[in-house]
Amino acid sequence: MLNRFVVDLETSRQQGFEKHEAILSSAQGREVTVLHQGSSRTLINMCANNYLGLANHPEVIGAATRALGSHGFGMASVRFICGTQDLHKRLENRLSTYLGTDDTILYSSCFDANTGLFETLFGAEDALISDELNHASIIDGIRLCKAARHRYRHGDMENLEAILRTSQAARTRAIVTDGVFSMDGSVANLPAICDLARRYKALVVVDDSHAVGVVGPGGRGTPSLHGVEDQVDILTGTLGKALGGASGGYVSGRKALIDWLRQASRPYLFSNSLMPAICAGSLAAIDLAENSLEIRETMNHRVVQLRSGLQRLGFRVGGVDHPIVPILVGDAEAAQAMSEVLFESGVFAVAFSYPVVPKGAARVRLQVSAVHRPEDILQVLGALESFSHPRCHRL
Ligand SMILES: *Cc1c(COP(=O)(O)O)cnc(C)c1O
Repeated sequence: MLNRFVVDLETSRQQGFEKHEAILSSAQGREVTVLHQGSSRTLINMCANNYLGLANHPEVIGAATRALGSHGFGMASVRFICGTQDLHKRLENRLSTYLGTDDTILYSSCFDANTGLFETLFGAEDALISDELNHASIIDGIRLCKAARHRYRHGDMENLEAILRTSQAARTRAIVTDGVFSMDGSVANLPAICDLARRYKALVVVDDSHAVGVVGPGGRGTPSLHGVEDQVDILTGTLGKALGGASGGYVSGRKALIDWLRQASRPYLFSNSLMPAICAGSLAAIDLAENSLEIRETMNHRVVQLRSGLQRLGFRVGGVDHPIVPILVGDAEAAQAMSEVLFESGVFAVAFSYPVVPKGAARVRLQVSAVHRPEDILQVLGALESFSHPRCHRL
């Protein structure tokens, strides 16, 4: 058996798919210290999901530290035995007010939220219709569920409509999509999805992990960005990205639905309760995301600076407006070379290639944070100005 893995590891290494973990000896922030070949280097960090810069924010740390003192380190219990503190209820209520929903249920992660959602709410009589580029946790969550599965081509509303037309025998149908697609920085076409959902009597499920705190008024996410809050039936999301970045996830929606998840959702029933300090830190992070206009404004300024700078340099850039800024290189080796040039110039950004993205669609994904300074963005642009590779074409 071990030999099998040795062979698999070698194959993946030879094909260039092996992933290496960079080791950081600093907190997550504007800069990170990365241990590299025996020494440590401090680099501008362009690859965290720390969009609002709250991962190391003094107010978030202060709130978490106080909760560590008042509520202890761990819960050592699932929620329904003795693992529910006032902090868990406060965070659930705060998320509901923030997102404009009836109620919210916490999970240890959004991955858990998505794996606990579908099998609990949908049965063999139902159908789930999912964007082909949806996050792995949605794919796995749907796999665990007995509902009929349909996949529509990424963002293809005609294909979605064709599936809606031919699946009308199902008891309940739900269209499932990421709010923001992580490899592209593109936003789902929620107005069109909600319109189709209304016409074909389907529910809409949005996983807003890369959007909550980041887009829309107050950072309420893609439903509020598009003004379709009242047409999105189920929202899932993470506390592990913009909202402090520690860990935790949630499902938010109508009361009876959340009540039923508390009774029957397996990752909620059979997995430990969220750390109290994370609840308190996340509460502080939501306050900052909702009320501190200058944080998101700063983030948006840096996004514009980076996107327009890259376009001026002739690079193909994916997505619109979002702090996920992928440079669409195409060739895997060229993307890797670009990532290495950035590293040498003091910028930390990772190249993605197959199987994370389709073959021939390799890219370097830059992620902007509100803690970046204008000169950091200039440093990134400066590093890329003279970048050339025979298989990276610039306009
Ligand atoms: C990051 C992400 C997740 C996983 O969130 P965790 O809380 O880290 O488990 C789920 N869905 C989407 C769309 C994501 O981007």
